[in-house]
Amino acid sequence: MVDAATSQASLFSPELIAKYDLAGPRYTSYPTAAQFSDGYTVADYTAAATASNRAGAELSLYVHIPFCSTVCFYCGCNKVITKNRAHAANYLMRLGEEIRLQGELYDDTRAVRQMHWGGGTPTFLDHAQTEQLMGLLEAHFRCESGPDSEFSIEIDPRACQPGTLGHLRSLGFNRVSFGVQDFDPKVQVAVNRLQSQAITFGAIQEARDQGFGSVSLDLIYGLPCQTRASFARTLSEVIAIRPERLSVFNYAHLPHLFKSQNRIDASTLPSPAEKLAILDYTIEVLGVAGYQYIGMDHFALPHDELARAQRAGTLHRNFQGYSTHAGCDLVGLGVSSIGMLEGSYHQNLKTLPEYYAALDDGRLPVTRGVLLDDDDRLRRHVIMRLVCAQDLDIAATEARFGIDFRSYFAASLARLAGMAEDGLVEILPGVIRVRDAGRMFLRQICMCFDRYVGAAEQGTRFSRAI
Ligand code: SF4
Repeated sequence: MVDAATSQASLFSPELIAKYDLAGPRYTSYPTAAQFSDGYTVADYTAAATASNRAGAELSLYVHIPFCSTVCFYCGCNKVITKNRAHAANYLMRLGEEIRLQGELYDDTRAVRQMHWGGGTPTFLDHAQTEQLMGLLEAHFRCESGPDSEFSIEIDPRACQPGTLGHLRSLGFNRVSFGVQDFDPKVQVAVNRLQSQAITFGAIQEARDQGFGSVSLDLIYGLPCQTRASFARTLSEVIAIRPERLSVFNYAHLPHLFKSQNRIDASTLPSPAEKLAILDYTIEVLGVAGYQYIGMDHFALPHDELARAQRAGTLHRNFQGYSTHAGCDLVGLGVSSIGMLEGSYHQNLKTLPEYYAALDDGRLPVTRGVLLDDDDRLRRHVIMRLVCAQDLDIAATEARFGIDFRSYFAASLARLAGMAEDGLVEILPGVIRVRDAGRMFLRQICMCFDRYVGAAEQGTRFSRAI
């Protein structure tokens, strides 16, 4: 919960950032994808899916469309760069087969309450293909679009034709997120993403005209050629259009993991001091503009569902980020997609040839994952409460998991004590609460409860907060 007396501007402390800005997971799951193993089999997945029917939770579908017509150099997504539209038809054929196989696993009494199409660029599909894909999903799952559901799609404004947003709305989508990153022309050239304000603002206006309930924009700080002054201009243009949600991600330069990042001239990246100045300004100016800092790079206007869910303690987090739909089982569809059932996480094959081969053989393309043990479930509860609600009820956790919290987490609490001294968390007799100043360090706070994170992994696999 938010300390009312603390302004957004006071969250920023260069000393604390220097002390706590360690690389760490973004906790879209616990255990994180780093713990997925090849030992997890299709049989494990089908058993977990069958077991999930007994609890009968509602479903969330994630659909991955991997194609993009040009590459953005900073990108760390699983994508295929091509201008050949024939790839979409081949992909849809296999995706349709996967949807059929997956649909057979889940009881048709289970409503799909949440759906997200991501990529890649979902609008690489033309209108007929988009309709075909939605039709396949509706044929094999009980999709329930409507005001109580969240059907969202990622839009690259450059790949959004006139009429696309109206078409998506007619198919049941009610939320959109637009990739922007930065409006500065120099930065756009440096990352190979040329996108005029007119295109972006036109798409946002069309989304609003078509009745999309919430518009979200993605920005990135730390890109080549960015300065505090240039990013301030981007922010002021973004604030003027007042998206309900904003993600301001930190660019992590990890060219050993993401090949296209090698095309970024590292000498043009902002210095650590400049990045700090950009972040400082971002938090301050968004606070002044009335945005609630949700945590983990996310901001929302107070009337938005995300902000309201956080205040109500019902915010949830999954592989797509923060969500208002807690308790759904997540079915991942498409190459490299990740799914989440109550007792396991799993991922599909990551390359198109492997994905196609599995489906052409009539096999589910699940390749790796993790089965959660009791300790994982307990730590997941603790970490997700801290990430979403930013407080943890100790007595409720003890009652739910049958543990003595202070002895079970003695080592974690010892690590957390220093953060409490620095004003990032409060450790009270019945509750652990993240203070406003700690929201910038959520991942480091959660790492105190993560049994898998080791010093050796930091800095290579995970990005930093700053
Ligand atoms: S950032 Fe988006 S549009 Fe750009 S290459 Fe990556 S997935 Fe494609």
